[in-house]
Amino acid sequence: MSKKILVLPGDGIGAEIVDEATKVLDCLCGEFGLDVEMDEALVGGAAIDATGVPLPETTLEMAKEADAILLGAVGGHKWESLDISVRPEKGLLGLRAGLGLFANLRPAILYPQLADASTLKPEVVSGLNLMIVRELTGGIYFGQPRGIRTLESGERQGFNTLVYKESEVERICKVAFEIAKKRDGRVCSVDKANVLECTEMWREVAIETAKAYPEIELSHMYVDNAAMQLVRAPKQFDVMVTTNMFGDILSDCAAMLTGSIGMLPSASLNESGQGMYEPIHGSAPDIAGQGVANPLATILSVAMMLRYTLDESEMADRIEQAVNTVLDQGLRTPDIYSEGTIKVGTEEMGSAVIAALKA
Ligand code: NAD
Repeated sequence: MSKKILVLPGDGIGAEIVDEATKVLDCLCGEFGLDVEMDEALVGGAAIDATGVPLPETTLEMAKEADAILLGAVGGHKWESLDISVRPEKGLLGLRAGLGLFANLRPAILYPQLADASTLKPEVVSGLNLMIVRELTGGIYFGQPRGIRTLESGERQGFNTLVYKESEVERICKVAFEIAKKRDGRVCSVDKANVLECTEMWREVAIETAKAYPEIELSHMYVDNAAMQLVRAPKQFDVMVTTNMFGDILSDCAAMLTGSIGMLPSASLNESGQGMYEPIHGSAPDIAGQGVANPLATILSVAMMLRYTLDESEMADRIEQAVNTVLDQGLRTPDIYSEGTIKVGTEEMGSAVIAALKA
């Protein structure tokens, strides 16, 4: 039976980059026998304009029925003055919550051809390939109580709560261990166990969960040291697993090691393996409609979808190899352009990936 993919272009450059990614899917169907059905729906600012809400009920229903979701990006200046409860970004949060997407996978890969794009020395980052597994539906971003209260003294006090249940830690660790099994078998669990009881328990649960994975080498690191090590010697890591907030910060740091957010895909998975796949960047309103956005992060998100939800690793490899080929050919969108390479637009880059797939 065909697998169902729901395509959500969203706003800004979303439609441009998603177009190229769906062409890649069409090519895999036509040339290599991939069996998927694609449907499209509204999310974000586009959905607000059409229906008044960032996540229409029909979109959520279609998302629940799909095996995988391919999202472009949401947001833009046009909707910035709206109340925070109905901004485009709420559409994303609604999808994460509605589908129970608790595991966020953020690879940071630096293709050797782009080593100069990083602000770090090429020898520190060239060939970097690490995966950050971030817990996405718990922790301090969701813990109760939270708020801003006025004390008797009249001074205001802001407060949030860091909470994790053992089961939440166990399931995210399992995701990290399973991913590491397909990679180099090493997982570094990042916590602040010396200060925060919640992450002291996190560490204990990680150790307990690892007992069922004798092939995995589990290590632990405090988050402050992890941030330091990421910029000092990032190639020491294979898979990192951490809390929602630590993962939020560390994954952006890791992304920047690679120099271009236009190259990085991501995945968010739930317990049944259903996933939402999207580039890590936003809707880039500054370049929207110009045909210059880099579609590779979105195309590589399709590769992650094939690997983690559709169980088509070989097709995922094909896409990654095709991206490698176009970089070898010297093709670059403006965000990754450097002297001596060939500047191309969004469509040309997408077409080059398809040509490499067919070659
Ligand atoms: P952004 O990621 O959209 O853009 C940051 C910079 O990177 C810009 O200069 C942009 O031109 C460039 N850039 C981003 N993607 C690119 C690509 N594929 N190719 C070439 N250049 C690219 O971040 P921002 O400007 O802070 O946010 C813009 C909007 O996107 C905001 O409304 C924000 O809320 C939203 N946003 C959405 C998501 C998401 O949908 N997951 C994530 C982050 C930001």
